Amino acid sequence: MNMPVVPTDIEKPSINPNAEIVLRKRYLRKGPDGNPVEDVQGMFWRVASAIASEEVKYAKSSFDVDRLAREFYSLMTSFRFLPNSPTLMNAGTELGQLAACFVLPVGDSMEDIFASVRDAALIHKSGGGTGFSFSRLRREGARVGSTGGVASGPVSFMKIFNTATEQVKQGGTRRGANMGILRVDHPDILKFISCKEREGELNNFNISVALTEKFMQAVEADEEYSLIAPQNGQEDGRLRAREVFALLVRKAWESGDPGIVFLDRINRDNPTPKQGEIESTNPCGEQPLLPYEACNLGSINLATIYDPNSDDGIDWDEFKRITHLAVRFLDNVIDASRYPLDKITETVGRNRKIGLGLMGWADLLFQLRVPYNSQEALILGEKVMKFLQAESKAASKILAEERGAFAAYDESTYADKKVGPYRNATTTTIAPTGTLSIIAGCSSGIEPLFALSFTRNVMDGEKLVEANPYFEQALRETESYSKALMEDVAKKGSIAHMELLPDDIRRVFVTAHDVEPTYHLKMQAAFQKFTDNAVSKTVNLPSSASEEDIREIYWMAYEMGCKGVTVYRDGCKASQVLCTGEAE
Ligand code: ADP
Repeated sequence: MNMPVVPTDIEKPSINPNAEIVLRKRYLRKGPDGNPVEDVQGMFWRVASAIASEEVKYAKSSFDVDRLAREFYSLMTSFRFLPNSPTLMNAGTELGQLAACFVLPVGDSMEDIFASVRDAALIHKSGGGTGFSFSRLRREGARVGSTGGVASGPVSFMKIFNTATEQVKQGGTRRGANMGILRVDHPDILKFISCKEREGELNNFNISVALTEKFMQAVEADEEYSLIAPQNGQEDGRLRAREVFALLVRKAWESGDPGIVFLDRINRDNPTPKQGEIESTNPCGEQPLLPYEACNLGSINLATIYDPNSDDGIDWDEFKRITHLAVRFLDNVIDASRYPLDKITETVGRNRKIGLGLMGWADLLFQLRVPYNSQEALILGEKVMKFLQAESKAASKILAEERGAFAAYDESTYADKKVGPYRNATTTTIAPTGTLSIIAGCSSGIEPLFALSFTRNVMDGEKLVEANPYFEQALRETESYSKALMEDVAKKGSIAHMELLPDDIRRVFVTAHDVEPTYHLKMQAAFQKFTDNAVSKTVNLPSSASEEDIREIYWMAYEMGCKGVTVYRDGCKASQVLCTGEAE
């Protein structure tokens, strides 16, 4: 492998010890003996130079490749922006697969099912996650014409995907992750809803039920709804909508699975409906995609745009500058990426979706001294996301002028609305940033902190102790800091019940469990309002929460325009498909 030579005049990144461990284990290129052949600086330069070199294809580009590589390098090493993990791992290498998210179709035949298992294996090997809709498979027990036998049904076939994932993860860059989706009107829906009720079952899957508008209306009116046989479109049974909804809620209460996605809403925002319906999302739910579509993600670290000298504490010019560079970066990633299937290359080339999102939201709120669970935070969240949406679209427009619009632009909804042209069919997604946030040393996605200080288990049993830097600083400023206190906080996570601490500190430094479930959801909805794709967010509930509480959250998510919702009740038995550093 040819490793690019790092210029001698660029600065070495200053990287926190936790990030160093994560990068060493999985991200740095290794030689045949398993030892790294690059250091952290080498990794960031490899990525920056590979992504900037795509610029030469475009005659109209105003960027000199070397200058752009340096800009990308400093964007990443200052942790203002990071691309998704596969880009960090594979840019400028032989594998060259740079996207985190894929959706594959699963057709109703042995050939199609096993082709899909194979395609998923190739994607997992490269560090990507896959989403599938199993809704096209005929129900368990249905006739198979060619053999006269009976079909096994979606849940049974999911087990094959699960086992294949298990094996591939032994040799891949990271463990594979899957999303399995079934429409609520599929005849096997009840089996699907309960398919993860036993601990360890389908452990490489997150599952979600695709709810339709028709179904939600039947729940509201307390009516029955029809189940539809996928192979012929005919009615194949009826169920009482409220009973199905109650089962969904009960299973989510027990284990966190399944989640729900609102399929009609996702398709209402499908920018290219002429290419067909969106049936599934990527593993963590934030990226709805067409079959054979892939998307690369990247996230801006909001903690880095705090500016104590500006009126409202935010450096909007800097935010704009980062956004424009990040969109250019992600658009170049599409060209630099080598996909494992020609069909994926074609679909990605048609729509050129990118998903620019945010991380460090909780950190920014800490710096601004705004409580996460406040009206002020919701208003600011909307404002920040609206800005990112508008600037990412403006950047995509500039790229369209330089490089042309995405190939399917003329048949897209943007053309109908006469906005654009754009270079990318979508520009925004809020990803979980499980590993990226460790590398950047910031809070993940738009989530509140899980704990203000904690011991983190990372890979192979290693333990890391971490305290949130803004929390520590605030304690020192108010002379509340002590080692004993920090140890106490590490045990409890939250300071909600530490009455000796100043009130304003307790109000601002809240954790996921201090935030009321409805505020979790309101925050998700605030960001969703200005996000093309979807928002990764967990609604945390205390272990004492009832099924009724979950039902209310689901209903609120529907009414507030969310594209889906994931709940997690503290202490319930779920072992989710982790997308955090802990899964590595
Ligand atoms: P990262 O921080 O590593 O870039 P995220 O936690 O933001 O990743 O997850 C974004 C998406 O990346 C997920 O929705 C999923 O599609 C994919 N992904 C995350 N973790 C894994 C994994 N362990 N294996 C495969 N794909 C993954």
